[in-house]
Amino acid sequence: MEKEKKICIIGAGASGSMCALFLSQKYKNITLYDLSEPLRTILPTGGGRCNLSNAKNDIKELAQNYPRGEKFLYSVFSRFSVYDTISLFEELNIKTYTQENGRIFPLSNSSKEVRDKILRRINHLNFKKEKVLKIIPKAEGWEVISDKSKENYTHVVVSTGGHFGYSLLKNLNINIIEPRPSLVGLKTKENFKEISGIVLKNIKSKELSITDDILFTHFGISGPLTYTLSSVFARKEYPYTLTFSLIDENYDLQSVLNNNPHKDIKNILSELIPKNFVKYFLIKLNISPETKGHEINGKTRDKILNYLREFKVTITGADKGEETVTAGGVDLKEVNPKTLMSKEYKNLYFCGEVLDIDGFCGGFNLQNAWSTAFVVSESILND
Ligand SMILES: Cc1cc2nc3c(=O)[nH]c(=O)nc-3n(C[C@H](O)[C@H](O)[C@H](O)COP(=O)(O)OP(=O)(O)OC[C@H]3O[C@@H](n4cnc5c(N)ncnc54)[C@H](O)[C@@H]3O)c2cc1C
Repeated sequence: MEKEKKICIIGAGASGSMCALFLSQKYKNITLYDLSEPLRTILPTGGGRCNLSNAKNDIKELAQNYPRGEKFLYSVFSRFSVYDTISLFEELNIKTYTQENGRIFPLSNSSKEVRDKILRRINHLNFKKEKVLKIIPKAEGWEVISDKSKENYTHVVVSTGGHFGYSLLKNLNINIIEPRPSLVGLKTKENFKEISGIVLKNIKSKELSITDDILFTHFGISGPLTYTLSSVFARKEYPYTLTFSLIDENYDLQSVLNNNPHKDIKNILSELIPKNFVKYFLIKLNISPETKGHEINGKTRDKILNYLREFKVTITGADKGEETVTAGGVDLKEVNPKTLMSKEYKNLYFCGEVLDIDGFCGGFNLQNAWSTAFVVSESILND
Protein backbone atom coordinates (compact mmCIF):
# COMPACT_ATOMS: atom_id res chain seq x y z
CA MET A 1 0.00 0.00 0.00
CA GLU A 2 1.25 3.51 -0.85
CA LYS A 3 2.56 5.39 2.19
CA GLU A 4 0.38 8.45 2.80
CA LYS A 5 1.92 11.59 1.37
CA LYS A 6 2.04 14.65 3.57
CA ILE A 7 2.87 17.56 1.34
CA CYS A 8 4.18 20.99 2.33
CA ILE A 9 4.16 23.91 -0.09
CA ILE A 10 6.17 26.94 1.01
CA GLY A 11 4.90 30.11 -0.66
CA ALA A 12 1.24 30.51 -1.69
CA GLY A 13 1.89 32.76 -4.67
CA ALA A 14 1.10 31.97 -8.31
CA SER A 15 3.09 28.74 -8.59
CA GLY A 16 2.57 27.39 -5.05
CA SER A 17 -1.19 27.92 -5.13
CA MET A 18 -1.51 26.33 -8.56
CA CYS A 19 0.64 23.40 -7.46
CA ALA A 20 -1.69 22.94 -4.47
CA LEU A 21 -4.68 23.05 -6.81
CA PHE A 22 -3.23 20.33 -9.08
CA LEU A 23 -2.25 18.14 -6.11
CA SER A 24 -5.60 18.61 -4.35
CA GLN A 25 -7.23 16.53 -7.10
CA LYS A 26 -5.63 13.48 -5.50
CA TYR A 27 -4.36 14.41 -2.03
CA LYS A 28 -5.99 16.04 0.97
CA ASN A 29 -2.97 16.20 3.25
CA ILE A 30 -1.46 19.38 1.82
CA THR A 31 -0.28 22.35 3.89
CA LEU A 32 0.44 25.74 2.34
CA TYR A 33 2.64 28.21 4.18
CA ASP A 34 2.80 31.89 3.38
CA LEU A 35 4.13 34.76 5.45
CA SER A 36 1.22 36.85 4.14
CA GLU A 37 -2.15 36.44 2.40
CA PRO A 38 -2.32 33.65 -0.22
CA LEU A 39 -2.14 34.76 -3.85
CA ARG A 40 -1.77 38.44 -3.00
CA THR A 41 1.09 38.50 -5.52
CA ILE A 42 -1.35 37.92 -8.39
CA LEU A 43 -3.33 41.11 -7.67
CA PRO A 44 -0.93 43.69 -9.20
CA THR A 45 -0.11 41.56 -12.25
CA GLY A 46 -0.81 43.10 -15.63
CA GLY A 47 -1.72 46.36 -13.88
CA GLY A 48 -4.57 44.52 -12.11
CA ARG A 49 -5.65 42.74 -15.32
CA CYS A 50 -3.43 39.63 -14.90
CA ASN A 51 -1.54 38.96 -18.10
CA LEU A 52 -1.64 35.23 -17.46
CA SER A 53 0.13 33.87 -20.53
CA ASN A 54 1.15 34.59 -24.12
CA ALA A 55 -0.16 32.90 -27.25
CA LYS A 56 3.07 31.24 -28.33
CA ASN A 57 2.09 27.74 -29.31
CA ASP A 58 5.51 26.60 -30.45
CA ILE A 59 7.50 25.49 -27.40
CA LYS A 60 10.85 26.76 -28.69
CA GLU A 61 9.36 30.10 -29.66
CA LEU A 62 7.79 30.35 -26.20
CA ALA A 63 11.05 29.43 -24.45
CA GLN A 64 12.95 32.13 -26.39
CA ASN A 65 11.22 34.67 -24.17
CA TYR A 66 13.17 33.56 -21.12
CA PRO A 67 16.66 35.10 -20.95
CA ARG A 68 17.26 32.69 -18.06
CA GLY A 69 15.87 29.17 -18.35
CA GLU A 70 15.27 28.91 -22.12
CA LYS A 71 16.57 25.36 -22.73
CA PHE A 72 15.63 24.08 -19.28
CA LEU A 73 12.00 24.96 -20.03
CA TYR A 74 11.70 22.83 -23.19
CA SER A 75 10.65 19.72 -21.28
CA VAL A 76 8.53 21.75 -18.81
CA PHE A 77 6.56 23.40 -21.63
CA SER A 78 6.22 20.11 -23.50
CA ARG A 79 4.33 18.85 -20.42
CA PHE A 80 2.25 21.98 -19.77
CA SER A 81 1.90 24.44 -22.64
CA VAL A 82 0.04 27.70 -23.27
CA TYR A 83 -2.80 25.58 -24.62
CA ASP A 84 -2.96 23.73 -21.28
CA THR A 85 -3.03 27.07 -19.46
CA ILE A 86 -6.07 28.20 -21.42
CA SER A 87 -7.81 24.87 -20.76
CA LEU A 88 -6.94 25.13 -17.06
CA PHE A 89 -8.46 28.60 -16.85
CA GLU A 90 -11.55 27.43 -18.73
CA GLU A 91 -11.83 24.63 -16.20
CA LEU A 92 -11.61 27.27 -13.44
CA ASN A 93 -14.49 29.04 -15.19
CA ILE A 94 -12.25 31.95 -16.20
CA LYS A 95 -12.77 32.91 -19.82
CA THR A 96 -9.73 34.43 -21.51
CA TYR A 97 -8.98 36.57 -24.55
CA THR A 98 -5.82 37.23 -26.52
CA GLN A 99 -4.62 40.72 -27.46
CA GLU A 100 -3.14 41.41 -30.89
CA ASN A 101 0.36 41.26 -29.39
CA GLY A 102 -0.29 37.74 -28.06
CA ARG A 103 -0.84 38.66 -24.41
CA ILE A 104 -3.58 36.61 -22.77
CA PHE A 105 -5.88 38.09 -20.11
CA PRO A 106 -9.04 36.99 -18.30
CA LEU A 107 -12.11 38.31 -20.12
CA SER A 108 -13.04 40.15 -16.92
CA ASN A 109 -9.63 41.94 -16.98
CA SER A 110 -9.56 41.22 -13.29
CA SER A 111 -6.67 39.62 -11.43
CA LYS A 112 -9.02 39.52 -8.45
CA GLU A 113 -11.26 37.09 -10.35
CA VAL A 114 -8.23 34.87 -11.00
CA ARG A 115 -7.23 35.00 -7.35
CA ASP A 116 -10.73 34.31 -6.05
CA LYS A 117 -11.36 31.38 -8.38
CA ILE A 118 -8.05 29.67 -7.61
CA LEU A 119 -8.53 30.24 -3.88
CA ARG A 120 -12.04 28.79 -4.02
CA ARG A 121 -10.48 25.52 -5.19
CA ILE A 122 -7.80 25.32 -2.51
CA ASN A 123 -9.36 26.91 0.55
CA HIS A 124 -10.19 23.50 2.06
CA LEU A 125 -6.44 22.77 2.40
CA ASN A 126 -4.42 23.62 5.52
CA PHE A 127 -3.08 27.15 5.33
CA LYS A 128 -0.49 28.45 7.77
CA LYS A 129 0.20 32.16 7.78
CA GLU A 130 3.78 31.61 8.91
CA LYS A 131 7.23 32.45 7.69
CA VAL A 132 9.28 29.32 7.02
CA LEU A 133 12.78 29.73 8.38
CA LYS A 134 14.44 26.41 7.71
CA ILE A 135 13.85 23.00 6.16
CA ILE A 136 15.82 20.04 7.45
CA PRO A 137 16.20 16.71 5.62
CA LYS A 138 15.27 13.72 7.79
CA ALA A 139 15.65 9.97 7.23
CA GLU A 140 12.03 9.92 6.00
CA GLY A 141 11.07 13.27 4.53
CA TRP A 142 11.50 16.78 5.87
CA GLU A 143 11.17 18.89 8.98
CA VAL A 144 9.80 22.35 8.30
CA ILE A 145 10.54 25.03 10.88
CA SER A 146 8.64 28.29 10.76
CA ASP A 147 8.46 31.32 13.03
CA LYS A 148 5.52 29.64 14.79
CA SER A 149 5.75 25.86 14.36
CA LYS A 150 7.72 22.71 13.56
CA GLU A 151 6.19 19.98 11.43
CA ASN A 152 7.25 16.88 9.46
CA TYR A 153 6.30 16.21 5.83
CA THR A 154 7.07 13.58 3.22
CA HIS A 155 7.40 16.10 0.34
CA VAL A 156 8.39 19.78 0.30
CA VAL A 157 7.76 22.22 -2.54
CA VAL A 158 9.62 25.53 -2.40
CA SER A 159 7.69 28.21 -4.31
CA THR A 160 8.84 31.33 -2.48
CA GLY A 161 9.21 33.51 -5.60
CA GLY A 162 12.16 35.59 -6.70
CA HIS A 163 12.21 38.36 -4.13
CA PHE A 164 13.01 36.61 -0.87
CA GLY A 165 12.92 33.12 0.61
CA TYR A 166 16.39 31.93 -0.34
CA SER A 167 17.58 32.04 3.27
CA LEU A 168 15.50 28.98 4.12
CA LEU A 169 17.73 26.98 1.74
CA LYS A 170 20.99 28.19 3.31
CA ASN A 171 21.66 25.10 5.43
CA LEU A 172 21.21 22.81 2.39
CA ASN A 173 24.14 24.21 0.44
CA ILE A 174 22.04 24.60 -2.68
CA ASN A 175 23.69 27.01 -5.08
CA ILE A 176 21.73 30.24 -5.50
CA ILE A 177 22.53 32.51 -8.44
CA GLU A 178 22.52 35.99 -6.92
CA PRO A 179 19.13 37.61 -7.70
CA ARG A 180 19.36 40.81 -9.75
CA PRO A 181 16.42 43.10 -10.61
CA SER A 182 14.83 42.52 -14.00
CA LEU A 183 11.93 44.10 -15.92
CA VAL A 184 12.71 47.34 -14.16
CA GLY A 185 13.49 51.02 -14.81
CA LEU A 186 17.21 51.83 -15.14
CA LYS A 187 19.22 54.58 -13.49
CA THR A 188 21.38 56.64 -15.78
CA LYS A 189 24.45 58.83 -15.39
CA GLU A 190 22.69 61.43 -17.55
CA ASN A 191 20.16 63.55 -15.70
CA PHE A 192 16.78 63.39 -17.43
CA LYS A 193 14.78 65.10 -14.65
CA GLU A 194 13.81 68.08 -16.84
CA ILE A 195 12.36 65.78 -19.50
CA SER A 196 10.87 63.16 -17.15
CA GLY A 197 7.49 61.97 -18.40
CA ILE A 198 8.47 62.27 -22.07
CA VAL A 199 8.07 59.09 -24.15
CA LEU A 200 10.14 58.34 -27.24
CA LYS A 201 8.04 56.01 -29.37
CA ASN A 202 9.24 53.19 -31.61
CA ILE A 203 12.93 53.77 -31.11
CA LYS A 204 15.47 51.09 -31.86
CA SER A 205 17.88 49.51 -29.43
CA LYS A 206 21.14 49.07 -31.34
CA GLU A 207 22.21 46.25 -29.00
CA LEU A 208 19.10 44.11 -29.50
CA SER A 209 17.81 45.38 -32.87
CA ILE A 210 14.31 45.69 -31.47
CA THR A 211 11.96 48.66 -31.55
CA ASP A 212 9.74 49.87 -28.71
CA ASP A 213 9.15 52.87 -26.44
CA ILE A 214 11.25 54.42 -23.67
CA LEU A 215 10.09 56.82 -20.99
CA PHE A 216 12.37 59.36 -19.30
CA THR A 217 12.08 59.39 -15.51
CA HIS A 218 13.51 61.25 -12.54
CA PHE A 219 16.17 58.58 -12.12
CA GLY A 220 16.82 57.58 -15.74
CA ILE A 221 14.78 55.57 -18.24
CA SER A 222 11.82 53.22 -18.06
CA GLY A 223 9.07 51.90 -20.38
CA PRO A 224 8.78 48.66 -22.35
CA LEU A 225 12.07 48.85 -24.26
CA THR A 226 13.95 49.60 -21.03
CA TYR A 227 12.25 46.64 -19.35
CA THR A 228 13.40 44.28 -22.09
CA LEU A 229 16.95 45.69 -21.95
CA SER A 230 16.98 45.40 -18.15
CA SER A 231 16.11 41.74 -18.54
CA VAL A 232 18.63 40.87 -21.25
CA PHE A 233 21.41 42.73 -19.42
CA ALA A 234 20.29 41.84 -15.88
CA ARG A 235 23.63 40.23 -15.08
CA LYS A 236 25.80 42.90 -16.74
CA GLU A 237 28.12 44.91 -14.50
CA TYR A 238 27.41 48.65 -14.11
CA PRO A 239 28.13 51.05 -15.64
CA TYR A 240 27.38 50.05 -19.21
CA THR A 241 26.25 51.97 -22.28
CA LEU A 242 23.06 51.53 -24.29
CA THR A 243 22.69 53.03 -27.75
CA PHE A 244 19.38 53.92 -29.39
CA SER A 245 18.53 55.03 -32.87
CA LEU A 246 15.83 57.69 -32.52
CA ILE A 247 15.27 58.20 -36.24
CA ASP A 248 15.18 56.07 -39.35
CA GLU A 249 18.70 55.41 -40.69
CA ASN A 250 17.60 56.82 -44.07
CA TYR A 251 16.07 60.05 -42.73
CA ASP A 252 17.21 62.79 -45.11
CA LEU A 253 17.53 65.86 -42.88
CA GLN A 254 19.20 67.93 -45.63
CA SER A 255 16.15 67.66 -47.90
CA VAL A 256 13.85 68.57 -45.01
CA LEU A 257 16.02 71.64 -44.24
CA ASN A 258 15.97 72.63 -47.92
CA ASN A 259 12.19 72.39 -47.99
CA ASN A 260 11.77 74.38 -44.76
CA PRO A 261 14.41 77.14 -44.92
CA HIS A 262 12.47 79.57 -42.68
CA LYS A 263 11.20 77.10 -40.12
CA ASP A 264 12.83 76.75 -36.66
CA ILE A 265 14.88 73.58 -36.31
CA LYS A 266 12.92 72.74 -33.13
CA ASN A 267 9.69 72.69 -35.19
CA ILE A 268 11.27 70.72 -38.03
CA LEU A 269 12.49 67.98 -35.70
CA SER A 270 9.38 67.91 -33.53
CA GLU A 271 7.59 66.28 -36.44
CA LEU A 272 9.76 63.26 -35.64
CA ILE A 273 10.25 63.37 -31.88
CA PRO A 274 8.54 65.13 -28.94
CA LYS A 275 9.19 68.89 -28.91
CA ASN A 276 10.45 69.03 -25.33
CA PHE A 277 13.03 66.37 -26.08
CA VAL A 278 14.10 68.27 -29.21
CA LYS A 279 14.63 71.45 -27.17
CA TYR A 280 16.51 69.49 -24.50
CA PHE A 281 19.02 67.93 -26.85
CA LEU A 282 19.51 70.97 -29.08
CA ILE A 283 20.52 73.00 -26.03
CA LYS A 284 22.84 70.13 -24.99
CA LEU A 285 24.45 70.33 -28.43
CA ASN A 286 24.76 74.14 -28.15
CA ILE A 287 22.36 74.68 -31.05
CA SER A 288 19.69 77.33 -30.60
CA PRO A 289 16.24 75.70 -31.02
CA GLU A 290 15.20 78.83 -32.96
CA THR A 291 17.88 78.36 -35.66
CA LYS A 292 16.21 78.47 -39.10
CA GLY A 293 16.48 75.60 -41.56
CA HIS A 294 18.72 77.53 -43.96
CA GLU A 295 21.10 78.50 -41.09
CA ILE A 296 21.96 74.85 -40.32
CA ASN A 297 25.29 74.10 -41.99
CA GLY A 298 26.63 70.65 -42.86
CA LYS A 299 28.58 70.33 -39.61
CA THR A 300 25.57 71.19 -37.44
CA ARG A 301 23.31 68.91 -39.50
CA ASP A 302 25.72 65.98 -38.95
CA LYS A 303 25.95 66.78 -35.24
CA ILE A 304 22.15 66.50 -35.01
CA LEU A 305 22.01 63.33 -37.11
CA ASN A 306 24.79 61.64 -35.13
CA TYR A 307 23.03 62.43 -31.88
CA LEU A 308 19.72 61.04 -33.09
CA ARG A 309 21.20 57.98 -34.76
CA GLU A 310 23.47 57.10 -31.82
CA PHE A 311 21.67 58.32 -28.72
CA LYS A 312 23.80 56.96 -25.86
CA VAL A 313 22.78 56.40 -22.27
CA THR A 314 25.06 55.22 -19.45
CA ILE A 315 23.34 52.76 -17.12
CA THR A 316 24.49 53.00 -13.52
CA GLY A 317 21.97 50.72 -11.80
CA ALA A 318 18.41 49.46 -11.59
CA ASP A 319 15.48 51.06 -9.82
CA LYS A 320 15.77 48.41 -7.10
CA GLY A 321 12.62 47.53 -5.22
CA GLU A 322 10.54 48.30 -8.32
CA GLU A 323 11.52 45.19 -10.26
CA THR A 324 8.79 42.98 -11.68
CA VAL A 325 10.89 39.85 -11.44
CA THR A 326 14.40 38.86 -10.49
CA ALA A 327 17.08 37.25 -12.62
CA GLY A 328 18.68 34.60 -10.43
CA GLY A 329 17.56 32.02 -7.93
CA VAL A 330 18.07 28.29 -7.47
CA ASP A 331 20.79 27.23 -9.90
CA LEU A 332 19.14 25.09 -12.61
CA LYS A 333 22.10 22.69 -12.39
CA GLU A 334 20.76 21.71 -8.95
CA VAL A 335 17.39 20.63 -10.37
CA ASN A 336 16.21 17.77 -12.60
CA PRO A 337 14.33 19.45 -15.49
CA LYS A 338 12.02 16.44 -15.90
CA THR A 339 10.80 16.35 -12.28
CA LEU A 340 11.89 19.73 -10.84
CA MET A 341 13.19 17.77 -7.86
CA SER A 342 16.52 18.68 -6.30
CA LYS A 343 19.31 16.46 -7.66
CA GLU A 344 20.83 16.32 -4.19
CA TYR A 345 17.76 15.97 -1.96
CA LYS A 346 14.93 13.53 -2.49
CA ASN A 347 11.38 14.89 -2.32
CA LEU A 348 12.46 18.54 -2.40
CA TYR A 349 10.91 20.37 -5.37
CA PHE A 350 11.01 23.90 -6.80
CA CYS A 351 8.50 25.79 -8.90
CA GLY A 352 8.04 29.37 -10.10
CA GLU A 353 10.42 32.26 -9.86
CA VAL A 354 12.48 30.80 -7.01
CA LEU A 355 14.26 28.95 -9.83
CA ASP A 356 16.82 30.82 -11.92
CA ILE A 357 14.13 31.37 -14.58
CA ASP A 358 12.63 34.67 -15.67
CA GLY A 359 10.93 35.88 -18.80
CA PHE A 360 10.12 39.10 -20.62
CA CYS A 361 6.95 41.13 -20.04
CA GLY A 362 3.90 39.63 -21.71
CA GLY A 363 2.61 36.81 -19.50
CA PHE A 364 5.75 34.68 -19.65
CA ASN A 365 6.49 34.75 -15.93
CA LEU A 366 3.05 33.52 -14.96
CA GLN A 367 3.24 30.86 -17.68
CA ASN A 368 6.44 29.68 -16.02
CA ALA A 369 4.61 29.59 -12.66
CA TRP A 370 1.72 27.46 -14.03
CA SER A 371 3.93 25.08 -16.05
CA THR A 372 6.51 24.42 -13.33
CA ALA A 373 3.70 23.99 -10.77
CA PHE A 374 2.17 21.32 -13.00
CA VAL A 375 5.46 19.44 -13.44
CA VAL A 376 6.08 19.42 -9.68
CA SER A 377 2.56 18.15 -9.00
CA GLU A 378 3.00 15.34 -11.58
CA SER A 379 6.33 14.36 -10.06
CA ILE A 380 4.80 14.08 -6.61
CA LEU A 381 1.79 12.16 -7.97
CA ASN A 382 4.13 9.72 -9.70
CA ASP A 383 6.51 9.34 -6.77
C1 LIG B 1 3.81 44.51 -10.23
C2 LIG B 1 4.00 43.19 -10.93
C3 LIG B 1 3.27 42.88 -12.05
C4 LIG B 1 3.44 41.66 -12.70
N1 LIG B 1 2.68 41.38 -13.79
C5 LIG B 1 2.83 40.20 -14.42
C6 LIG B 1 2.00 39.85 -15.52
O1 LIG B 1 1.06 40.57 -15.87
N2 LIG B 1 2.25 38.68 -16.16
C7 LIG B 1 3.25 37.82 -15.77
O2 LIG B 1 3.43 36.77 -16.40
N3 LIG B 1 4.01 38.10 -14.69
C8 LIG B 1 3.82 39.25 -14.00
N4 LIG B 1 4.58 39.52 -12.91
C9 LIG B 1 5.51 38.49 -12.40
C10 LIG B 1 4.74 37.39 -11.66
O3 LIG B 1 3.84 37.99 -10.74
C11 LIG B 1 5.69 36.46 -10.92
O4 LIG B 1 6.63 35.95 -11.83
C12 LIG B 1 4.94 35.32 -10.27
O5 LIG B 1 4.04 35.80 -9.29
C13 LIG B 1 5.91 34.35 -9.62
O6 LIG B 1 5.17 33.35 -8.99
P1 LIG B 1 5.82 32.56 -7.78
O7 LIG B 1 4.79 31.63 -7.28
O8 LIG B 1 7.11 32.00 -8.17
O9 LIG B 1 6.16 33.67 -6.68
P2 LIG B 1 5.18 34.70 -5.98
O10 LIG B 1 3.91 34.82 -6.70
O11 LIG B 1 6.02 35.90 -5.73
O12 LIG B 1 4.85 34.00 -4.57
C14 LIG B 1 5.84 33.71 -3.62
C15 LIG B 1 5.14 33.61 -2.27
O13 LIG B 1 6.05 33.04 -1.33
C16 LIG B 1 5.87 33.69 -0.08
N5 LIG B 1 7.09 33.49 0.70
C17 LIG B 1 8.34 33.88 0.39
N6 LIG B 1 9.20 33.48 1.34
C18 LIG B 1 8.48 32.81 2.27
C19 LIG B 1 8.81 32.15 3.49
N7 LIG B 1 10.08 32.09 3.96
N8 LIG B 1 7.81 31.57 4.21
C20 LIG B 1 6.52 31.62 3.77
N9 LIG B 1 6.15 32.25 2.62
C21 LIG B 1 7.13 32.81 1.88
C22 LIG B 1 5.58 35.12 -0.46
O14 LIG B 1 4.89 35.79 0.59
C23 LIG B 1 4.71 34.95 -1.72
O15 LIG B 1 3.33 34.92 -1.42
C24 LIG B 1 4.41 40.72 -12.21
C25 LIG B 1 5.13 41.03 -11.06
C26 LIG B 1 4.94 42.24 -10.42
C27 LIG B 1 5.75 42.54 -9.17
